[in-house]
Amino acid sequence: MNFTCHPSTLISRIFIMRTSYLYALVAARYAVSHKMVLSNGSDVGQPAGYPKGQPIGQPVGQPVGGFVSVRAGRKQTPFPQWLTDFTGLKEWPGIDPPYIPMDFIDFDKIPDYKRYDQGVCGANPRESCSFDCDHCLAPDDVYTCRKISQTFDDGPSPATDKLLEALDHKTTFFNLGINIVNYPEMYRKILDGGHLVGTHTWSHPFMPSLTNEQIIAQLQWSVWAMNATGHHLPKWFRPPYGAIDNRVRSIARMFGLQAVLWDHDSFDWQLINEDQTVRTEEDIYRDVQEWKHDGEGLILEHDGTFKTVQVGINVNKILGDNQMTVAECAGGIDYIRAFP
Ligand SMILES: [Zn+2]
Repeated sequence: MNFTCHPSTLISRIFIMRTSYLYALVAARYAVSHKMVLSNGSDVGQPAGYPKGQPIGQPVGQPVGGFVSVRAGRKQTPFPQWLTDFTGLKEWPGIDPPYIPMDFIDFDKIPDYKRYDQGVCGANPRESCSFDCDHCLAPDDVYTCRKISQTFDDGPSPATDKLLEALDHKTTFFNLGINIVNYPEMYRKILDGGHLVGTHTWSHPFMPSLTNEQIIAQLQWSVWAMNATGHHLPKWFRPPYGAIDNRVRSIARMFGLQAVLWDHDSFDWQLINEDQTVRTEEDIYRDVQEWKHDGEGLILEHDGTFKTVQVGINVNKILGDNQMTVAECAGGIDYIRAFP
């Protein structure tokens, strides 16, 4: 196995350069309608809180904090011997993890839909069931909850601690594998608090733009990060940007993963944009009051930055602690397997 390890600071710099370029690209051409459609064609209506003309999920280049926080000199999760035996590698990968063949992946069962970039819709027929393009939901997608509940993506990060200190209920985190191995203590603190953790991929790519092998790599390395750091395997998977179609779903299902989307987007990431006129904290709290009044739904928030964590704490104050984890919302199980 040929794998070149980059110095972590370089990875961070490359990532920032790449994302700021993509951000400009995406911002220029992203426009989607905001109707949710089940894969059987029925319309579940416009999710509340979607300002007109706003994309689903975050832009590619979240400018402050970033998706992947890599700092030199910090203690990573040790790369376990079982993973060396399986992969031939000795260190955690950078943002482009290598594909490692796995016997439970059946390539014949992956539908042959075309790859597409963020915001470039129309390459595939509607039955490809893209959430980001068409707000299409598959029957096994979780996207709402009978009790209005918060969820937090993109951690663990240095800001996560503040959120953990403030929360009095169990919540759901969708963590990035690369952040898990770089913040192992924070990750274990989340688990110790009894919270639910699902995967948000290894390094936050736009999954439909990847090859099947790259999609597999993003999921397998995120699962291994959880296994090596917290001794468990995840059941729940939130695709970055809500970018998922039936090609991505079919691969995720082979990992035993079930997709989780949302019906209320806080758009908290807009608070850390340079242009702070897009959305204010007051806009978010006003939406949350409305959602609370309705009483149902899953809210998308982020624990990747201190700013969005503070908003999450304030949203928690508005909603209270009568919330559910995604597993409780779905009436399903937490982890498919935990190790002592
Ligand atoms: Zn994310």
